[in-house]
Amino acid sequence: MTKYIFITGGVVSSLGKGIASASIGKLLESKGLKITIQKLDPYINVDPGTMNPFQHGEVYVTDDGAETDLDLGHYERFTSIVTGKDNNVTTGKIYNSVITKERRGDYLGGTVQVVPHITNEIKDSIKRVGRGKGIDVVICEIGGTVGDIESLPFLEAIRQLRLEKGRGNVLNIHLTLVPYIRAAGELKTKPTQHSVQKLREIGIQADLLLCRTEKSLSKKLKEKIALFCNVDEDAVFEAKDVKDIYEVPLMLKQQGLDKKIVKLLGLHCRDKGLKDWVEKVIKPALNPSKHTTIAVVGKYIELQDAYKSIYEALRHGGIANNASVDIKKVESENLEKYGAEKLLGGVDGILVPGGFGTRGIEGKVRAVRFARENNIPFFGICLGMQCATIEFARNVCGLDRANSTEFDKNTPHPAISLLEEQRRVTQMGGTMRLGKFPCRIRKNTKTYEAYKKPLVYERHRHRYEFNSKYQDAMAKCGLIVTGVFPKARLVEIVELQGHPWFIGCQFHPEFKSKPDSCQPLFREFVRASIESGSKGGKRQ
Ligand code: GLN
Repeated sequence: MTKYIFITGGVVSSLGKGIASASIGKLLESKGLKITIQKLDPYINVDPGTMNPFQHGEVYVTDDGAETDLDLGHYERFTSIVTGKDNNVTTGKIYNSVITKERRGDYLGGTVQVVPHITNEIKDSIKRVGRGKGIDVVICEIGGTVGDIESLPFLEAIRQLRLEKGRGNVLNIHLTLVPYIRAAGELKTKPTQHSVQKLREIGIQADLLLCRTEKSLSKKLKEKIALFCNVDEDAVFEAKDVKDIYEVPLMLKQQGLDKKIVKLLGLHCRDKGLKDWVEKVIKPALNPSKHTTIAVVGKYIELQDAYKSIYEALRHGGIANNASVDIKKVESENLEKYGAEKLLGGVDGILVPGGFGTRGIEGKVRAVRFARENNIPFFGICLGMQCATIEFARNVCGLDRANSTEFDKNTPHPAISLLEEQRRVTQMGGTMRLGKFPCRIRKNTKTYEAYKKPLVYERHRHRYEFNSKYQDAMAKCGLIVTGVFPKARLVEIVELQGHPWFIGCQFHPEFKSKPDSCQPLFREFVRASIESGSKGGKRQ
């Protein structure tokens, strides 16, 4: 029988519920249990695919082509699960489905209401994610903060689910904040008390508390929290800030969180421990012997979360190469203002990530040129690959004003153009080329050296592509195609010959990188950057 863990958050947002959920997943997997992790998001968009990164942060793409919340990235990086469309449910998705049923006549005669129709739909989506896959535990993270109007139906649904499944089969974990008030020199428990109280008001009793804190909680303080929040004393855990997020599972295990969960849910399992994780991830992450500086030239740079998976994948590259990776975040528009040398001079590698729309494009093109001309390792991802193609077409092949038709409909040289299948698309939501596709890799290339196999699968999210009309002209000048989607012969990877490391890919390799198994292109890009830096930074 599948058991359920619900994770709610209180007091403030951004406490790291996603990382807490992923870490609990990791702990349960280390006990040989089969898990999945789901995120419920209270907003009305059907998925975050139509949201601006400034609003939402990164959109994480799954194998099955769902555009989802970035927390699913944490779930995949910490655990072995492969998420899909059922792992992220939004209010919009729930209402969409209920309204479709209503129009079809499924509820004929009935008034369709939040309770029971919306809450039933939510419960169904929670049960669905664990169904038929032999899942022992579904970990379900509820987005938003307790007390928000928007997440109420989700909370009501999980309250009902506990009644339905029985107490021993459902666990409520509440992530909360115990702030340190400097003026008083004290940690304060009142916000936590109120948040747990707010949960109780709607009928949910927290079983375990994870208290985010800057300082350790004393035994006395834990007792106080337990008393006022109506939980066992050994159910108050501290989640202190750690140096590296990958330490969180270990920190929670050291306090016995895994044991407590197993006991409360009556799970039968065997502990394999976190030895592998410590050896392969934590130790190398905390004790790097080399160093490299990599610039990420993006257009949503001031937002921490917009390139989450890219930043993580670069760190994985560091772990794989025993190096610390210093990420220099460069706003591409600033390159247009101040020039490349000023902002990129001295970096060991340059990465241009994905994106949409005209703003900042010329800055990205300049970054590519700077990397190409100065022999600095370059990695272009999706839009970054498209910018590399545009730059090469313009400045090496002499195709004046070459561009993507996304940015200039009348360009004389559409080096990047709309995918054929996109020409008929009129709706914006969920209609890009999305999800996992195969890619055939050309031998005797740096791309092949990274992957070491002829066929790979990567995740996509785009509408435009390399225009194969220009393939020969580009190849003659040195930019060769090293990866193609076999069925439609779409160009998926390009590589510049005679450059230390210059690769652009149409897909998003960052979504498949993990701390203990870095995605190969990231691993090699970081390796090349370290090497370039060790040559003294000044390029020949
Ligand atoms: N805007 C480009 C396209 O739609 C690139 C997309 C991306 O970087 N994810 O093809």
